Amino acid sequence: MTRPRRVLHSPSTEPEPVDPSAFPGLEERRGADGGAASERWRNLVASNSTIIADGAMGTMLFANGLMFGDPPEVWNLSKPDVVRRIHRGYLDAGSQILMTNTFGGNRMRLSLHGLQDRVAEINQTAAILLGNEADAAGGDALVAGDIGPSGAILAPTGTLDYDEAVDIFAEQAAALIAGGVDLIWIETMSDLREIKAAIEGVRRISPGIALITTMTFDTRGHTMMGVSPEQAVTSLSAWGADAIGGNCGNGPDELVTVIERMRAVNRDAILVAKSNAGMPELVDMQAVYRSDPDTMAAAALLMRGAGASVIGGCCGSTPEHVQAIASRVAG
Ligand SMILES: [Zn+2]
Repeated sequence: MTRPRRVLHSPSTEPEPVDPSAFPGLEERRGADGGAASERWRNLVASNSTIIADGAMGTMLFANGLMFGDPPEVWNLSKPDVVRRIHRGYLDAGSQILMTNTFGGNRMRLSLHGLQDRVAEINQTAAILLGNEADAAGGDALVAGDIGPSGAILAPTGTLDYDEAVDIFAEQAAALIAGGVDLIWIETMSDLREIKAAIEGVRRISPGIALITTMTFDTRGHTMMGVSPEQAVTSLSAWGADAIGGNCGNGPDELVTVIERMRAVNRDAILVAKSNAGMPELVDMQAVYRSDPDTMAAAALLMRGAGASVIGGCCGSTPEHVQAIASRVAG
């Protein structure tokens, strides 16, 4: 008698069916706009070396006096010189892709501050600020329009309808693209349906623009909503993301494992690692990140070894961290 086969409970890694008009395939994306929308991204990827991203925006804004609870995106309007100086720090450190200061720049999150009618102004200005700074530094760095989570949980678990989420993300993407970004970077997502809505929103505005998507794997190797690295890379590539990976989370050690797991099920995806500078610790009601630049630089080599080709830092990472990563990866 054979022993009963043990079936491990593992969530399906099959992506949901794709609506071809909402999620154009590779050929269609490259053909859109004569390929112009993703040309700078494709050129950077073709250079075939490890691409250095930037570090934290929030950490640097707090260091410059942003108060906890205040919307960081307003500083694009009220303190553009500070935002530009932060971008410049990352450009000087060697970042080749930088993100706009628009993480919470969607209608839903801005409504917490009565700013829901200023999505276009805030996002477009942020894109112009970063674009100007990148140009001033020689113009080689790519400007990524940063889109973070909506701030609400999608139905049926929460109250936000999928279609409304698509509208919210499309509105933000439209403003970023109007501001001249080279690509869109959707980040810190936990819910696969929400990131799907964000991709659909971006594609409604621009079928061809390059798209980086990263989720946060901070709960026992999964996202807070239970998404595994395998599920993420499988679904996000089916939905037409040009690069896929993890950002934020509990520090570089956990993210190395995430990258390994993504690579194990997908040989071809361009993988992205943007780790926090260690596990956040609460000290005097402030998040403190203890990984120093040298530790992050050593971790960057592990990320690259695991398959990541776009590497930067998230919360707690400063230009010093990025500079250490850039010089270690180059050496
Ligand atoms: Zn972070």
